[in-house]
Amino acid sequence: MYRTHTCGALRIEQAGQTVTLAGWVQTVRKFGSITFVDLRDRYGITQLLFNESLNAKLDAQPLGREFVVQATGTVNERSNKNANIPTGEIELLVTEFSILNKSAVPPFTIQDDTDGGDDLRMKYRFLDLRRNAVKRNLELRYAVNRSARNYLHEHQFMDIETPFLIKSTPEGARDFVVPSRMNAGQFYALPQSPQTFKQLLMVSGYDRYYQIVKCFRDEDLRADRQPEFTQIDCEMAFVEQEDILQMFEGLVKRIFKDVKNIDYTEQVKRITWEEAMWNYGNDKPDIRFGMEIANLKFPKHAFPTRNAAVFNEGTNGAEHAALASDFSVFNSAETVLAIAAPGCSEYTRKQTDELTEWVKRPQIGMKGLVFIKCNKDGSYKSSVDKFYPETQLKALADAANAQPGDLVLVLAGNEERTRKATSDLRMEMASRLGLRKNDEFKLLWVLDFPLFEYAEEENRWVARHHPFTSPKPDQIEVMINNEPTIADASKYLEHPYSNIKANAYDMVLNGNEIGGGSIRIYQRELQEKMFAALGMSEEEALHKFGFLLGAFEYGAPPHGGLAFGFDRLCAILGGSESIRDFIAFPKNNSGRDVMLDAPGPIDQKQFKELQIKLDLA
Ligand code: ASP
Repeated sequence: MYRTHTCGALRIEQAGQTVTLAGWVQTVRKFGSITFVDLRDRYGITQLLFNESLNAKLDAQPLGREFVVQATGTVNERSNKNANIPTGEIELLVTEFSILNKSAVPPFTIQDDTDGGDDLRMKYRFLDLRRNAVKRNLELRYAVNRSARNYLHEHQFMDIETPFLIKSTPEGARDFVVPSRMNAGQFYALPQSPQTFKQLLMVSGYDRYYQIVKCFRDEDLRADRQPEFTQIDCEMAFVEQEDILQMFEGLVKRIFKDVKNIDYTEQVKRITWEEAMWNYGNDKPDIRFGMEIANLKFPKHAFPTRNAAVFNEGTNGAEHAALASDFSVFNSAETVLAIAAPGCSEYTRKQTDELTEWVKRPQIGMKGLVFIKCNKDGSYKSSVDKFYPETQLKALADAANAQPGDLVLVLAGNEERTRKATSDLRMEMASRLGLRKNDEFKLLWVLDFPLFEYAEEENRWVARHHPFTSPKPDQIEVMINNEPTIADASKYLEHPYSNIKANAYDMVLNGNEIGGGSIRIYQRELQEKMFAALGMSEEEALHKFGFLLGAFEYGAPPHGGLAFGFDRLCAILGGSESIRDFIAFPKNNSGRDVMLDAPGPIDQKQFKELQIKLDLA
């Protein structure tokens, strides 16, 4: 036996016992003939005490950081107790000791506040993983994994593995491909998700499936994405949207309870995609705080007016009555949006100038920012006083739901950019005001996404979710009865397909999409229509998805499901912005594993076997 206890196990109750520990040397502190060593393993730290006057040979061997050692001795009550660690009342009075393995000097300190930079820690990830902070993240990940499995198992879900070597059907993201040696010139693809397999499992009668599974997408890595990531992937047969929402709301609540001891008892709020875009400017709103967007003006096509009474036909679409003035910036803008920042009416000139600079940054791309100060005494003051009498300022501030003491921020310009900028500004203000708290969790279902988006350059519809998503039941006819073709691409908004809503849902947690899915198409005719709408010829659809179309002819049950982004869910529960912190061996921003130095070249012999020649430009 290498050890009788772990380095986190011993307490004052064991005082007097003879025990053996094994672990890594965290620190060595020498005081004359006495040496203290902090010994660390996965479970904690125990102080070892070497007393030369009692056992001289212990000091004969030099001991370095991260050496692996074994120590036997007596558990001793410490005179100088450390209340910060669970083993802090005791130490091990060492009588026998051996070095099991030496260590080179580690390139950074293995401590919570390490001196190692990101690259260095990734290169030596096996050392980084010894650090408490990283270990806690992996422990949390495992806790989420266990909790999900328990819940799904209790609800009759079966974990069924699906293949990693599949066929390339690029639609959405790009596939990673793998050459086949046995079938020269042919390639497998790694799955972007097990989507079609889980649907086939429904056809096979496994009516509740799940898998905690790797997915692979060869995308340009936007911030905090990984080319391989993990999903909690689920599918159910004989369900409608409501069944799915209930079941998986239950799953996330269970994870909250098991992992964070949070009783999330309230029903998860639901909003439509349109409401999300209207009120928050994006489809994954953070609802930990209010600051909803007031739509003061918008192009006719955009969204229906919610408060039609105060809206007039303006120069450029519908606008709030109080917007009428000679202010050319608002008059020429496609859209005017406002938010009320709580308690900010006393911002100084310097602060408002700084905010204006913030919205002018290229990432935000606005030309300027208009302020309305809602003073505590009930008066209003604005950067556009010249154009707006106080009554109008008040009406605009009221539209933004501003209270005395608030500062209304107004952005104007092109619809898409302004909506995104207002959404970004809302998040920025919330961060500055401390309204995005790491320990507060707010779930949200976003429903009724559009089924299609129109890709004007390609002159075809693309599936917003994926091609297997069903329209809302009452809109199936609209899809069946209308041909997808559009003669004039600029008129796509007039095509009936523009208004079809998907039977799809996203789960949002604190402003992050943590999961999404849909009720699926399960009839061949509708699936064929969908492929045609996406611009696929019949041959192409058969070539790529013949197996699925065929399966739909053999008694496919109604079904639907969803997948959670497992890495992201863990990161949010761990209060972190970065999924990388929750993956044992992550890739960097360029998709490289810097520890393995992968990807890398392969041998000529391998090329030969694969009958592949490189032709690098
Ligand atoms: N397979 C989908 C995805 O990866 C999720 C789903 O529809 O179940 O986004």
